[in-house]
Amino acid sequence: MATTYLAAVFPAPHAPIELGEFPEPELEHGAALLHTMYSEVCGTDVHLHHGKLSGVPYPIIPGHVSVGAVAKAHGSLKTVNGDPVKEGDVVTFLDVHETCNNCYHCLVAGQPTRCPSRKVYGITYSANDGLLGGWSQAIYMKPGVKMIHIPDGLAPETFIGGGCGLVTALHAVDMARLKLGDSLAVCGVGPVGQSAVALASLSGAGEIVAVDAVEDRLEYAKRMGATQTISLALPRKERLSRAHALTRSRGFDVVIEASGHPDAVSEALDLVRDGGRVIVCGHYTDNGSVEIHPHWQINRKHVELRGVWGSRYEHFHRAVEIAARFGGEKPWSEMIGGRFELREAKAALEAVEKRQVTKSVIMA
Ligand SMILES: [Zn+2]
Ligand SMILES: [Zn+2]
Repeated sequence: MATTYLAAVFPAPHAPIELGEFPEPELEHGAALLHTMYSEVCGTDVHLHHGKLSGVPYPIIPGHVSVGAVAKAHGSLKTVNGDPVKEGDVVTFLDVHETCNNCYHCLVAGQPTRCPSRKVYGITYSANDGLLGGWSQAIYMKPGVKMIHIPDGLAPETFIGGGCGLVTALHAVDMARLKLGDSLAVCGVGPVGQSAVALASLSGAGEIVAVDAVEDRLEYAKRMGATQTISLALPRKERLSRAHALTRSRGFDVVIEASGHPDAVSEALDLVRDGGRVIVCGHYTDNGSVEIHPHWQINRKHVELRGVWGSRYEHFHRAVEIAARFGGEKPWSEMIGGRFELREAKAALEAVEKRQVTKSVIMA
């Protein structure tokens, strides 16, 4: 009898999650099949469920960052490190695939995240094309997908606890060009913000201030390296005074917006010092607009404002290295607030949407 695999499917925006049965794919040369161990559920999945990202070819199997065991491989597959990928190996993979290295964005602008050929597992591959998302018992690794081993000593839960948030945060912290001793505020300490706090602390930042509405998240941010917290329970004016009290009225050298709330972008511009940098990475999907005062918030302040959308292979590769090296020091695995089976995908998603947990994982 032919082997089949179960996968959770978003049939269309707002439609209830379905459980679909998929035939085992025939492996092309250079392809592999993973048996899924963990696939994460993050805010992007909530937004995908609500249809807030354009160009998504529903139906899709969600799940962009996953860890699995290689069940089958066709041909001799190697990682960037030159290590062979064999059956039984525990690996993760870059969800982004098919950036062409042959277009204006890839070759001239040096912005492969804007490559028109770019595809993302769990987001821009359709379930009609097979097992191309992680909320599934198996994931098809198309030829050329960049896999990397979960190294000895790195618990898969530590990597998946960091997950896409860690990869995005690394891109954002790179963009922030933090210097040793710089002060930093992170607006919104969900999965991206928590990792931004951890990475800033590993980068030698000075004052690291986490801003969020959820008290548990602020407490957790302290364990990730935040030196101070500011609660959104305070009115915005008071938050600004508190920021001024922490920075000799100058504002922060760097502010990373990781909340996904349009208002947080405006607040980040208030919190940053003159000549500082604001990195906006919380708006991967369309969460609406906000009014900005260009004179007071940008021009007069000499603010450097940068957007960070998605990530490149180098961020993913270094994220695995960082999780392996610092996973004992920074409690990424504890980001996982709920573990769910595939048939519980709805509950896994709801737990993230209702902010009962920072992150859920599906264990297929
Ligand atoms: Zn391209
Ligand atoms: Zn994600």
